[in-house]
Parts: sequence; C-alpha cells; structure tokens
Amino acid sequence: AAFLSASVYTFVDQELSAAELERTFIAIKPDGVQRGLISDIIARFEKKGYKLVAIKLVHPTKDFAEKHYDDLKGRPFFNGLTDFLSSGPVVAMVPPPPPSQSMSNHTADPQVWEGQGVIKYGRKFIGATAPLASEPGTIRGDFAISVGRNIIHGSDGPETAKDEIALWFKPEEILSYKKETDKWLYE
Ligand code: ADP
Repeated sequence: AAFLSASVYTFVDQELSAAELERTFIAIKPDGVQRGLISDIIARFEKKGYKLVAIKLVHPTKDFAEKHYDDLKGRPFFNGLTDFLSSGPVVAMVPPPPPSQSMSNHTADPQVWEGQGVIKYGRKFIGATAPLASEPGTIRGDFAISVGRNIIHGSDGPETAKDEIALWFKPEEILSYKKETDKWLYE
C-alpha cells in the first residue's frame, strides 16, 4: 500500500506551474450573442477541459473595436467589421489550459509545446475565417455562414493573445483558481 499511496499522492498533488500556462482571448461576437449561442460556444471549451479564468459581457465602442482589430486597418471590410463588433454586447473570455504532463517531464522550452495549447486548439475549435470553408464540427462550421457574421473571435498567436487580454481585461479581472478536474485531464 505504501508504493500505491505514494503514486496516488503524486497524482493528486500535481501542481500546474504558472510558467507553463497558456492563455488565449476568446470573444463571442454580437451575432453569437443575439443568436443565443453563448452556452453552445462556452460548452465546447469547457467540455474539452479548458479552464475559464475571466468572463464578462461588454458592449464595445466603435473606438474600442478599432483598437481590437488594429491589424486589419486599411482592409476594405474594416469599417463594417468594427461597426459590427460595436453593434451589441460581446462575451469576452480568457480560458487557459493547464500544461500537459509530458511538458513537465521534459526539459524542452515550453514554447515547443505551444502548438498543443489553447491558442492553437482554440483556433481549431473555431474553424476557418470563412464559415463555409470551416469543417463541420468547428464552431463556425456548425453555426455560421458569412465571413462578416462568423460569431466568434480567438487570438491567433501568443503575442496577439497577450495584447488582446490586456486590451479587454484588467489584471484583477483574471482569476487564478484550482480546478479539481485537472488531475483527470492531464496525466
Ligand atoms: P479570424 O477572425 O479568423 O482571425 P481575421 O483576423 O483575418 O480572421 O479577420 C478578422 C475578422 O474580420 C473575421 O473574423 C471576419 O469577421 C472579418 N473578415 C475577415 N475577412 C473578411 C472579409 N473578406 N469580408 C468581411 N469580413 C471579413
């Protein structure tokens, strides 16, 4: 029983190191809110096992929407896109995943594992920018048709995620808490 309890305790006590956490910014755009898709979208991230650390309902101003899509300034659809993003409430979310066990077992730079994290996986969940090019099973593939009404936003990389989280949330709005299910998700 001694060897058994030792391994059980390792299993139960596994702490997920802050340095290994990856965060992405997810927003349900005004069309997703209006169409009653908030719960469907949150459910996908929740059921996968990701942890929600910040959430709020906001109605962005036009100016704020322009800041959010700063990198698309100059594109022909920029004005319509920012009008649209500021047309109603948006659900802003930051769900990070804890790291995989294989990460803590390797000495490799955690950046190497980024591809398996929530940023990339979040993008896979979301699907292609144009919903008709998105696979069924993805959020845009299942719930949307037009590129300008594609219901959800997700950061496209670690730098964008950092900037977008800082734009949408104050540090104190991002919570740190332990989820008891982590030990059932990560070996
Ligand atoms: P994504 O949201 O998939 O990261 P982009 O960053 O390229 O895509 O574009 C941001 C948003 O701008 C898209 O989600 C979409 O709503 C809108 N958009 C992109 N391309 C077009 C387009 N050709 N016409 C209208 N809206 C577009």
